[in-house]
Amino acid sequence: MGITIDDMSVFCKRKGFVYPNSEVYGGMSGFFDYGPLGVELKNSIKAEWWKTHVTQRDDIVGIDGSIITNPKVWVASGHVESFTDVMLKCSKCGNSVRADHLVEEKLKIHAEGLSPQKLHELIEKNKIKCEKCKSEFDKPKNFNMMFSTTVGPSSDEKSVSYLRPETAQLMFANFKLVQENARMKLPFGIAQVGKAFRNEISPRDFLFRCREFEQMEIEYFVNPEKGEDCPYVEEFSAYELNVLSEPMQEKKEKPKKMAVNEIIAKKIMLPWHAYWLAFEQKWFEGLGADKEKFRVRQHMKDERSHYATDTWDLEYSFPFGWKELQGISNRGDFDLKQHIKVSGKDLSYYDEGSKKKVIPNVVAEPSLGVERSFLVFMFNAYEDDKKRGNIVLKLHPKLAPVKVAVFPLLSNKDELVKKAREVYDSLKKCYQCAYDTSGSIGRRYARNDEIGTLLGCTIDFDSLKDESVTLRDRDSTKQIRVKIEDLKCVVGKLIKGEKFESLGKLI
Ligand SMILES: [Zn+2]
Repeated sequence: MGITIDDMSVFCKRKGFVYPNSEVYGGMSGFFDYGPLGVELKNSIKAEWWKTHVTQRDDIVGIDGSIITNPKVWVASGHVESFTDVMLKCSKCGNSVRADHLVEEKLKIHAEGLSPQKLHELIEKNKIKCEKCKSEFDKPKNFNMMFSTTVGPSSDEKSVSYLRPETAQLMFANFKLVQENARMKLPFGIAQVGKAFRNEISPRDFLFRCREFEQMEIEYFVNPEKGEDCPYVEEFSAYELNVLSEPMQEKKEKPKKMAVNEIIAKKIMLPWHAYWLAFEQKWFEGLGADKEKFRVRQHMKDERSHYATDTWDLEYSFPFGWKELQGISNRGDFDLKQHIKVSGKDLSYYDEGSKKKVIPNVVAEPSLGVERSFLVFMFNAYEDDKKRGNIVLKLHPKLAPVKVAVFPLLSNKDELVKKAREVYDSLKKCYQCAYDTSGSIGRRYARNDEIGTLLGCTIDFDSLKDESVTLRDRDSTKQIRVKIEDLKCVVGKLIKGEKFESLGKLI
């Protein structure tokens, strides 16, 4: 049995990963602050994402758009009109809840994306009442989830704008500039990592549903006439996904493991969709997440967003159930067409092959929350090691917030302290390191196991003679002896994934 989401939030606070926002003032629901370790982990997640999705690819370039934009962007995208959740308000005590979540909880069905009418029917039919006072709810209402603000000194209606509810739109609005500047040819993508804001009616499950969050997102554009050609899908043909399609959900079937080539041959999804789902799952796997805890689920017709023709969610089995990590939508040409219409500007693409102007299709939109990834990696890493008598946070070497903790064996021996300081000062130029002198070595190991520190590096009396240190591996507790001059190189190799035992003599 693993830990619950509430246990995880307590652990994260205790160890300095994540705090409730402005806790000294009682906090604020749906907002969180990252502590010294949390910010390191979060930065590593974003850096790893950028590396695999942008730096290492020829077909994707990045932007960093502004959080507040011309409000016409949100008119064009449809957010002003329809970026809504359905809210239920208790007629007696005023308690407000998200209708779809309440229906999901009570009826154990998927309800996200259902219309107010449909939700109302379900609530009436099943006699769902306010959980606080058992009274009836008023009729469900649409509630726009964008945070609005005013820009400039006057606060009239004309100065209203919004904090962006997604990072996607500026990748459309800047499509033409980016394509021309970076001389991109279809198919290609634009990537962005940044904050987004949604005024959730009832934020919950710790970092899972926040009001301020961060997205790592790609809009991937293809020529509408070549929408099915995915030149990269071959590399994943044997890669397995745990598939739960719309028909399978209708028939109440269990998810089924299928290789990407089988998924495509059976026309369960288009090649681009299968490719991106596999690519995204593999990204998690490459950073240590357990493949068995993932599945891909197709949206039912009535839960799809207003723009999407097909959507598949990459889901993860959290302690509070299967939940969406990212939705990969086929948005077609909806967004570019809308921006062309509302701005009056030409955002089309000139295809040199066919000598024709086309409006590219967004065939996939891998959009991943940093916070949700953070939770996946934390749940995946958390292990209560009964034998050791402490938690071991087995984060992937690339994600570990501290790579090496340096300890002088005894903190009251000047010569050991001096040497340990030297080693620490040199290592910290390359890696996140910690220097720890308090308590027994065993206590220092345990403290570092709990925060996921990859390696313990102890300077003992032999170190003064042989210029070597003892390195201890967090996951196995095995130890090797390494020359101080080789230390940087050895740590680098471990982070890249080389086996601990292969890098020195076991002691
Ligand atoms: Zn009530």
